[in-house]
Amino acid sequence: MAREKGSHRDHIVGPTSCDCEYFLFHGILEGEGSCIHIQAYNIASRNESFRKIVVKREELKEILTEIFAYGKSLKLRKLISSR
Ligand SMILES: [Zn+2]
Repeated sequence: MAREKGSHRDHIVGPTSCDCEYFLFHGILEGEGSCIHIQAYNIASRNESFRKIVVKREELKEILTEIFAYGKSLKLRKLISSR
């Protein structure tokens, strides 16, 4: 998951997919590559420049539900700021 600074949204992102509007309409609908989140994910992965947080399945479900419903997860933000 990635936190977007500008619009204060959290995204569910992997090496080839993202839940953002740009990727849905350009990456999937038009087949035009990746979004900035995927690019950032891949750069961070190559450089091992990320923070890994291990959560229980129920916590992950809560985080995903918050992102799906509200575009951001307060639970995720609490976990990031507490570690
Ligand atoms: Zn994206």
